[in-house]
Amino acid sequence: MDLIEKKKELIKNLIEQGFLHSKEVIDAFESVPREEFILERDKVYAYADYPLPIISGQTISAPHMVCLMTELLEHKKTDKVLEIGAGSGYQAAILSKLVKKVYTIEIDYDLVEFAKRNLAKTGYKNVEVIRGDGSKGYAKKAPYDKIIVTCAIPEIFKELINQLKLKGKIIAPVGSGWFQELILGIKTKTGLETKNYGGCAFVPLRH
Ligand code: SAH
Repeated sequence: MDLIEKKKELIKNLIEQGFLHSKEVIDAFESVPREEFILERDKVYAYADYPLPIISGQTISAPHMVCLMTELLEHKKTDKVLEIGAGSGYQAAILSKLVKKVYTIEIDYDLVEFAKRNLAKTGYKNVEVIRGDGSKGYAKKAPYDKIIVTCAIPEIFKELINQLKLKGKIIAPVGSGWFQELILGIKTKTGLETKNYGGCAFVPLRH
């Protein structure tokens, strides 16, 4: 089976399993080449539904997790989004198809270059990769319509909530162990209303 067929098969499965449902996210997933965001040796696995190692001991999330998190944020074309943990740049590329502007912050210098290179070769221009510690968000471009955290955080830090617009949404793997809970938060006048979407496993936040 070639990559195009594998991708079609994966999309079909993700729709059947409920991870993909909106036309916009299906189109975004279809158009972004995951094979361009992973290591050369792993290209044959680009459309297998599991995480893959990238560089600096980090991983690109499994396709179903990317789809689940993206769908839950219910993006609009006018959105300004912050991602914490650029990694390969793949999640940012998917977001770039759905929103106006993506800021993605990455702590690791080598991964900043990796993400920039991957995004440049695939031509996603409304994404800015920033080198920095994202645990306090990125105040410079706040407030955001959406925040997506792609490394495990022990709690949803107040700085992140502060950087969200009212009714803005944040999704994050929350927990300190090997496994975390996928939490969706909506900012209200009084704080953050949260909903738990079950277990997940992300690499931990680094300082
Ligand atoms: N979203 C990525 C996968 C992220 S893996 C993708 O689509 O490929 C988690 C990433 O979070 C790693 O690249 C890691 O270096 C980064 N990270 C960890 N701690 C961080 C921090 N404090 N600030 C910003 N990025 C961080």
